[in-house]
Amino acid sequence: MADVRSIHDHLKHYDRHLARLEELRRLLQEELAAARSGASGEHGPLTGGRRVAEIEAALARMDRERYGSCASCASFIPFDQLLHAPHRTTCDACAVPPPGRPAPGRAGEAPPRPRATPRAEAASSRTGATA
Ligand SMILES: [Zn+2]
Repeated sequence: MADVRSIHDHLKHYDRHLARLEELRRLLQEELAAARSGASGEHGPLTGGRRVAEIEAALARMDRERYGSCASCASFIPFDQLLHAPHRTTCDACAVPPPGRPAPGRAGEAPPRPRATPRAEAASSRTGATA
C-alpha cells in the first residue's frame, strides 16, 4: 500500500511548484504585453520581435510542462534565476557568458567542462523524510 503521508507531502510540494509557475506565468504575460507594445525593457539583450518570440516560447513550454529545466544540462533551473529572466532556457552554469568578456582562447586550452548530471532533483523528489 502506498504511504498516504508521503503522497500528501508530495502534493504539498506540487502545490508550491504550481504557485511558483503561476507567478512566473504572470511575469511572462506582463513581459509579453510590454514587448508587444514596444516598450523594451532596459535589462536583457532581447528586443522587439525576438523578445516576443522568446516569451511566447516560454509560455508554450509551460503549457507542455516542459518549463523550468535547463536545455543544456537538463537540471532544474532555480526559481530565483527564473524570476530574473522567466524566458531563460538554461541555468546559470550553462548560460553563455555576457558580451564584453572575451571567450576563452582557442589555443587548445579550453577549460574542461564539468559534465553536469541531473542529480539533486531526482534524489529529492523520490525520497521523503524518513528519519
Ligand atoms: Zn544547465
